[in-house]
Amino acid sequence: MNRYSRRSFLKDAVKLSICTPLIPAGLKFGDKFQINSEENIMTVNGMVKASDLGFTLSHEHILVDFIGAEHYDPRRWKHEVVIKAVKPYLDEIKEFGCKSFVECTPEYIGRDPELLKKLSDLTGMLFLTNTGFYGAADNKYMPGKAYDMDTGSLAELWIGESESGINGSGIKPGFMKIGVAPGPLSELHQKIVKAAGQTHLETGLSIASHTGPAIPAFEEITLLQSLGIDPEAFIWVHAQNEKDPNQRLKAAKMGAWVSIDGLNPENADQYVNWLQDFKKHDLLHKVLVSHDAGWYSPGEEGGGSFTPYTAIFKDLVPKLKTNGFTSMEINQLFTVNPGKAFAKKVRKV
Ligand SMILES: [Zn+2]
Repeated sequence: MNRYSRRSFLKDAVKLSICTPLIPAGLKFGDKFQINSEENIMTVNGMVKASDLGFTLSHEHILVDFIGAEHYDPRRWKHEVVIKAVKPYLDEIKEFGCKSFVECTPEYIGRDPELLKKLSDLTGMLFLTNTGFYGAADNKYMPGKAYDMDTGSLAELWIGESESGINGSGIKPGFMKIGVAPGPLSELHQKIVKAAGQTHLETGLSIASHTGPAIPAFEEITLLQSLGIDPEAFIWVHAQNEKDPNQRLKAAKMGAWVSIDGLNPENADQYVNWLQDFKKHDLLHKVLVSHDAGWYSPGEEGGGSFTPYTAIFKDLVPKLKTNGFTSMEINQLFTVNPGKAFAKKVRKV
């Protein structure tokens, strides 16, 4: 999550209908334009077909607590208070046709699977939660034990959450969320990436990594490849923070998922340009777009200021349509790509 993405939005209620076109006849099974009907995704309410995900926001937050791992305490918030504050924003995107919500808040920053399950039950939307440790922000959100644990024990912890559920809740993660610093990978962050790789090979969970610039992104991809893992297991989170657009294209060509996830009403034109570039290079099938918005902040009055999850519906999709993007291409970005990126399957080189 990026603190600077918070801002208030115009609340003009332009309703859009997002159509889900049929897949044209003749496309092969496993084709890049469609979800594999045999693949599944783990939600906080259990396994669903990847094709059940529907229109998906692939990187958002419900609750974030920036207090740091040292003082982290889930008793700092109450579910009923958070639900009251957050649910109207979910109702709003549901009206736009949004069906699924990938909650990217890692453990020790506010990951709360039981809260997500309650929200899922109340809204009927599908929620994905995660496992992993977040090393970005100078390791402020890394628990002390992460320094002592070796790669194997970290992987064992995350595999355990995937197989038996998180902290006794029985709720299983739908992906991994890790985080690394914006420069070359430190030894500690290499360990986190390797542990994520080992976890992937056991569980098939995809690895979404808060990364930003290209330097650590390609180091992560290379490290995963050295473990025999295909780049398509990797989601390059906050790829919009890389200055050179060619680096994003290069990662997409390698098969990695490129997540441009800082959309807001003010930068929607920039996102249209980037997406046109991906389209020109026939790489639209490797891009994820989201807002990195939300969220309830414990310790702030009323949960602090909240950024709605609506710029995709109110700003980006209308602009894509006027710039010649077809319903099929919009469906690719928000339905097919998340359904493929978060499918629980081992991706070997
Ligand atoms: Zn985020």
